[in-house]
Amino acid sequence: MTVVKYKVEKGVAWLAMNNPPLNALSHALRQAIVAGIDRAGADRAVQAIVLIGNDRAFSSGADIKEFAGGEFYRDPFLPAVVAALEASAKPVIAAIGGVCMGGGFEVALGCHYRVALGDTKISFPEVKLGLIPGAAGTQRFPRLVGLETAVNMIVSGATVPAAALKDTALFDVVVKDDLRGAAAEFARRLEKKPPRRVRDLPVEHPQAEAFLQFAKQGVATVARGLSAPLRAIEAIAATTTQDYDAGLATEQKIFGELMVSPESKAMRHAFFAERAATKVPGITEQTKPREVKKVAVVGAGTMGGGIAMSFANAGFPVTLLEAKQDALDRGIATIRKFYEGAAQKGKLSPGDAAKRVALITPSLDFAAAKEADLIIEAVFEDLGVKKSVFQQIDKVARKGAILATNTSTLDVDRIAAYTKRPGDVLGLHFFSPANVMKLLEVVGAAKTRPDVLATALGLARKIGKTAVVSGVCDGFIGNRMINRYSQQALLMLEEGASPQQVDRAIEKFGFAMGPFRMSDLAGNDISWHIRQRHYEEHPKQRRMRIADRIGELGRFGQKTGSGWYRYEPGKRDALPDPVVESIIKEERAVLKITPRKLADAEIVERLLYALINEGARILAEGIALRASDIDLVYLAGYGFPVQRGGPMFHASQVGLGTVLRRMREFAANPHADPAFWKPAPLIVKLAAAGKTFDDPPEKKSSQQRRARRG
Ligand code: NAD
Repeated sequence: MTVVKYKVEKGVAWLAMNNPPLNALSHALRQAIVAGIDRAGADRAVQAIVLIGNDRAFSSGADIKEFAGGEFYRDPFLPAVVAALEASAKPVIAAIGGVCMGGGFEVALGCHYRVALGDTKISFPEVKLGLIPGAAGTQRFPRLVGLETAVNMIVSGATVPAAALKDTALFDVVVKDDLRGAAAEFARRLEKKPPRRVRDLPVEHPQAEAFLQFAKQGVATVARGLSAPLRAIEAIAATTTQDYDAGLATEQKIFGELMVSPESKAMRHAFFAERAATKVPGITEQTKPREVKKVAVVGAGTMGGGIAMSFANAGFPVTLLEAKQDALDRGIATIRKFYEGAAQKGKLSPGDAAKRVALITPSLDFAAAKEADLIIEAVFEDLGVKKSVFQQIDKVARKGAILATNTSTLDVDRIAAYTKRPGDVLGLHFFSPANVMKLLEVVGAAKTRPDVLATALGLARKIGKTAVVSGVCDGFIGNRMINRYSQQALLMLEEGASPQQVDRAIEKFGFAMGPFRMSDLAGNDISWHIRQRHYEEHPKQRRMRIADRIGELGRFGQKTGSGWYRYEPGKRDALPDPVVESIIKEERAVLKITPRKLADAEIVERLLYALINEGARILAEGIALRASDIDLVYLAGYGFPVQRGGPMFHASQVGLGTVLRRMREFAANPHADPAFWKPAPLIVKLAAAGKTFDDPPEKKSSQQRRARRG
């Protein structure tokens, strides 16, 4: 394959990048661009050069698969390619359409002139990978669009259409269509005009220093511990204090430092995790997803309403079913209020808000679901209620419709067995609030057909969710792990920590919210009910008396004005509460524990290793297909800090040998429950072999195990 096609027409050399799908700047493409420039430079028949992409992209930027090996730095390294374009003695015009991102955009900035389609998607997404533009983007872009626009775009990673930048010096021509024609016409009009090099342009701003200082402060408050956005400002600032070459050296230095930073490694891991999660055994290119045009949701409570909105937001008509008129009215009123609120805040136009409300049709008659292609049940968490609902759905649903349950804890295999079509049944575990939270656990039951799973994964993308496939178990991936984490948090209260200390320690590590603040937000009644069920199922299980007393007092969290903390009316600030302190003290006395001071580091380790140990079991059981899926669940659904890459990635960074040693030390603590810290066999095995979770031996998927069970 020729990665750059070369053609001369009427004195113009056309270099067409051809590295589908999106012209990622692989080593081969970089080499071919430089070769094309050299060839055109030497070709007497050529007066001007046009660099153009394919229909989908000018270029999506670096080929980040090359980050892992040495290819990314292999000669010609991207900055050298960009420099070669700029150094060309013949004028080079970038003809830009489709996607033009990161390194691809830097290539365009190395060209002397730029002609673009107005709807070209322009962005510098490097900060999302913990990086900054590293091929002079931070030095050239401000010279064309000014400091403010450059800071905004580079720091946010936001995508903007080319048309939005048409009043800057960035583009020479912006057209609606016929990019080729416009570029050819521009090249012809250029005639013998010399190259215009961006590096020679000044950066102008009346108060550059003050602006950059202001920008730095603003970014520091929202960057939540991430360093790349601040370092991007540092690189951009060099355009105002240093000459071009020195500024470029500053950028290169920062880029190099970030490239090897744990933050960027973790963010790149998260990026690949998202891609890997779409690959599911049993789903092949031949697996044809089912068509889903109409959706029905059963239950108009907290989850049903949110799920209905998720689909309405993506333009799906939704039938919302309820058992009782008052519950239905309440559900619809909540939905309406949400959309009206969004319109008032300017997040949605009043027209769009009305359209979304209109897409949701309330009904008390299950027959209204007969045309739905997907029916999602979100009724009470009670197997009897689920049974009756699934039997009714089974009667009315059309052949081939997909039937889903949003259960958090119940056995999806049993639920599927209530129907005569278990192959069409799966779990779709949304998180609350369902219209906001990104994560969707797609639960494959024993008999779920591959095309049903494939349909769910495709739909998740359409409604903007991050889908992760999970096998069937109590709590699936996310809640089964969080349960261990919460238990550990409660044990630390018994030993001497306070809710605020536990929350503060893990929030300092980077979590959006500590376990007690999170529980107050989600509702302490939920975990209390789950604990009651666990006590019944496992009578020997240690009782969490402190938490049970919080539940018995009806301290359900923010919604009741008190929980682990107290809340002033109408406010969400978590305030320490003497009532909680005395409960903790009393229970410590009952347990005959003399409280000790726990170091923040111990708190963080115990919370994380509780997650990791359960994650390892989940992986070994094949409930999760890969360690990075578990990371994705935690990044998308539980506020795990992205710069730490997720619990399993974090474990690999710490070293499984260390994790194992520390768990054994925790087990030796006089108040520890030794069963709690029994290390997962997978961790023991991997630690002994000096391996990480990315390389698990003898991994079996639950699908495979099921197949063997017959
Ligand atoms: P909810 O109590 O807010 O809503 C349940 C709704 O189902 C009620 O409006 C009720 O009237 C309706 N309902 C009950 N029986 C019905 C029937 N036979 N036919 C039609 N409607 C019926 O509960 P929720 O928090 O929305 O939870 C619903 C499901 O989602 C549960 O399985 C729960 O475990 C799961 N879930 C909840 C959360 C959460 O954070 N709340 C998160 C993930 C999953």
